[in-house]
Amino acid sequence: MKNYSIYALPGDGIGAEVMAPALEVAAAAAERVGVRLEVNQGLVGGIAIDETGSPLPAETLQQAEAADAVLLGGVGGPKWDDLPTAERPEKGLLGLRQALGLFGNLRPALLFGPLAAASSLKSELVADLDILIIRELTGGIYFGEPRGVEIRDNERVGFNTLVYSEHEIERIARVGFELAQKRDRRLCSVDKANVLEVSQLWREIVTSVAADYPDVALSHMYVDNAAMQLVRAPKQFDVIVTGNMFGDILSDVAAMLTGSLGMLPSASLAATGVGLYEPVHGTAPDIAGQNIANPLAMILSVAMMYRYSLDQGEAADLIEGAVASVLQAGLRTADIHSGGEGETLVGTQAMADAVMEAFDGG
Ligand code: NAD
Repeated sequence: MKNYSIYALPGDGIGAEVMAPALEVAAAAAERVGVRLEVNQGLVGGIAIDETGSPLPAETLQQAEAADAVLLGGVGGPKWDDLPTAERPEKGLLGLRQALGLFGNLRPALLFGPLAAASSLKSELVADLDILIIRELTGGIYFGEPRGVEIRDNERVGFNTLVYSEHEIERIARVGFELAQKRDRRLCSVDKANVLEVSQLWREIVTSVAADYPDVALSHMYVDNAAMQLVRAPKQFDVIVTGNMFGDILSDVAAMLTGSLGMLPSASLAATGVGLYEPVHGTAPDIAGQNIANPLAMILSVAMMYRYSLDQGEAADLIEGAVASVLQAGLRTADIHSGGEGETLVGTQAMADAVMEAFDGG
């Protein structure tokens, strides 16, 4: 029996509330497909500051590096908002991403049919939407040097540097092609090659990598057009690959096409194979401790972990299929409850229980 070591970091706010049921779902799926999960839990973010004085204790980093995959709830909350930037909970998350070398951020925008009315777009444009945005996460303008604010000609000037090297472009392009191969085999690379030299290099490298993936249809699109197309006809896309800043913006646009933050999982991958899986939403302090948070983003993050870090696609399919069927049956947490006919309002744990029951087709 295959054995996997999972490191779970519930974090703050609703993090712990969604992590606990998601781990139950992970264990139930492991049993179904015949693998063994060894789960250790650790501290990150605000709770780590409270208990150890650091948002990313050395022990956490060590355990994360040794695991096959890391699951994260979320970090931050009003309790720690007044701390200096360098000591805040978010430092824990950024430090973890950096230390694990998580250069590829996968953000699926998946809209389960029964939730189509929650989108700000017309239902027919988004029903059954299934696109994947891959954002380069450790390079580009967010990290480029030089950067700063300085006095030039008697006024302050702010500047940042958009920089990508060939190897950074090539490795994220390969992630794009390989994931497209597992889906509908269409990859759209988004850049601004009509204006930026970096983008011209990006386009050249992505095009040359395409020769290794003849079964994937590659297209290129300028970022302004991509933003427009995402809200005009989002289903035209299968996989999008892009740089850090463009991906930051486009993945949030795509997230909102689905209308519900509580439904969106994400994955961040390193070259070594270790991945970090977390919901897109934050710690929702406004609803923490009430057993009303939607656990499905965390549960779908577990499905991504099975697919991308553990190579257990069957377990991922099982979880995603069960989520689709509980939504089809009308179960809704408060955030996705429209009050429509056939809907049943449930809490966090009841939603997760229903997902596990649906493993049996129940
Ligand atoms: P948020 O995502 O936590 O909440 C935004 C809104 O969505 C809130 O009304 C919340 O109740 C609701 N919501 C979010 N997740 C939900 C769920 N699973 N079920 C039901 N409703 C849900 O964003 P915010 O309010 O801007 O930030 C709150 C805290 O979370 C801040 O401290 C912020 O820094 C932190 N945060 C952390 C991460 C992370 O750890 N990756 C990401 C974003 C925000």
